[in-house]
Amino acid sequence: MGTAALNAALAMEPTDAATRQLSLLEPLELRHLPQEGLSFDEALPERWLQKVLGTSMDTGEALEYPAPGRARLTVTPLGPVENHPPILVRGDFQAVARTPCVRCLAEVDLTLAESVETTLFPPASPEPEQPQGPKGAKHRPEDQKLEDWDEELPDLEALAEGTYTHDRIDLPGVLEEALLLALDMNPTCADEAGCDGRTQALLDEANRPLREAEAQPDPRWAALHQLMGSEPKED
Ligand SMILES: [Zn+2]
Repeated sequence: MGTAALNAALAMEPTDAATRQLSLLEPLELRHLPQEGLSFDEALPERWLQKVLGTSMDTGEALEYPAPGRARLTVTPLGPVENHPPILVRGDFQAVARTPCVRCLAEVDLTLAESVETTLFPPASPEPEQPQGPKGAKHRPEDQKLEDWDEELPDLEALAEGTYTHDRIDLPGVLEEALLLALDMNPTCADEAGCDGRTQALLDEANRPLREAEAQPDPRWAALHQLMGSEPKED
C-alpha cells in the first residue's frame, strides 16, 4: 500500500468502539469493523491482566496487578473491509505489575507502558513456488548494512506483524503480546541501596548455617586435626 492510500485510511475519524458495545478484550469480527476504523479506550481489569500474564515467563515469579490497566487502540482497515485488507492496530497501554525483586525478593511495582503498532494480514493465499537459491534460502539482501535498514525502517515496532483468521481480529492477543514484551526480564528495586542491604541480609541468613559449622568443627574431623597437630615440625 502506498503512503497516500495509508494516509487516506488514517485520515478518517474512527468510530468510538464503546458506542458499538465492542471491547478490546474480545476478538473483533471483521464484519463489525467500519470502514473508518474503530477507536478503543478501555480499562484492562486486574482479573484479565492476571489471566493473560499472571506468571513471568522469564523468572517464573507470580505477577499481581494491584490496579486496572488502560489501553487505547485504534483499529484501521487499510483497504475496503470486504476485501479482507491488512488491519493496522496502534495505540498504547499502561499497567502496573507487582512481582518480587530478583535480588532481594521485596515487592516491586513494574510500570508496563508501551506503544503498540502492528499490522495484521489476512491468511496468505498460497504463493507459487519460488525458485530457491543454492542454499535454499529466500532472497535476502544479506550484504545490506544495518544502517541502510535503519534508514528505511525508522520504527522497528512497525515491523511487528501478524495475521488474522476466520475474519476475526485477535485484539486481546495483540495486547497480550505487547504486555509480554513490555515486561522487564529482571525486575529489581528502584532504591538500589535498600535493595543491596536486603540482598546482603538474605545472603547472611543463607550463609549462617555454614558459618556456624565453621565455628564448631565437626567432631568427626577431630582425629584428623589431632594428627595434623601432632605432625613433627620441620626445622
Ligand atoms: Zn531488591
